[in-house]
Amino acid sequence: MMESGFERYSRQIAIPGFGEAGQRKLEAAHVVVAGLGGLGSAASIYLVAAGVGHLTLIDAQRVELSNLNRQVLHWSPDVKRLKIESAMEKLHALNPSVSIEAKAEKITWKNVDKLLRNADVVVDGVDNYQTRYLLNEACVRLRKPFVHGAVEGLTGQFTTIMPGDGPCLRCIIPKPPPKKRAFPVLSTTPGIIGCLQAMETIKLLTGIGQPLIGRMLFFDGQRASFEEIEIRRDPNCPVCGGMASL
Ligand SMILES: [Zn+2]
Repeated sequence: MMESGFERYSRQIAIPGFGEAGQRKLEAAHVVVAGLGGLGSAASIYLVAAGVGHLTLIDAQRVELSNLNRQVLHWSPDVKRLKIESAMEKLHALNPSVSIEAKAEKITWKNVDKLLRNADVVVDGVDNYQTRYLLNEACVRLRKPFVHGAVEGLTGQFTTIMPGDGPCLRCIIPKPPPKKRAFPVLSTTPGIIGCLQAMETIKLLTGIGQPLIGRMLFFDGQRASFEEIEIRRDPNCPVCGGMASL
């Protein structure tokens, strides 16, 4: 089906300050979504629906039955398939004009720079701090905006790391929290945080609104509340400490 103009995006183009210029910026943009679990599912669905032109998805895992309560890109028939295959199929059907590249690779210090090299924004959809730190370090090195998100149970957190401008992940969380294997997550929690990450990414790409730099947002689903704290650069941070401010 041929689409005319920007009809698909007409309702967001109508937002003051967004316009066709904003849509063109999204169309020209390249976002890397690292991890296709709960956060990555929600973030990539909305990025593709919004018309981000180029997406790279990274995940080496296969779909498990216990993923399906929250990883909404993967459905019952997808169990045992590679997550990138399951995701590509759904995202392509949602918006065929988005060019999607998928890599079934485990993120390591050896491949991380290469994986992120062409990104305008990197979205944190991983489930462990070891990989988050690798992504954070590469984003600082390559000066890429990094939209961090994490969830557990009914709670979540997110912030935008703009190397040289605000703190990096290591400034905020100097040591990884104890490693947990299958931590509990309610169905909706990564949907909420992943959606906020997608919104933040769209804001960064189009220049609308104020990005969440130097602020961390905490969501508490038990109380249905958001709390914001100010976060600062650590001048002695082993990752971004020596970097000149923007
Ligand atoms: Zn830092």
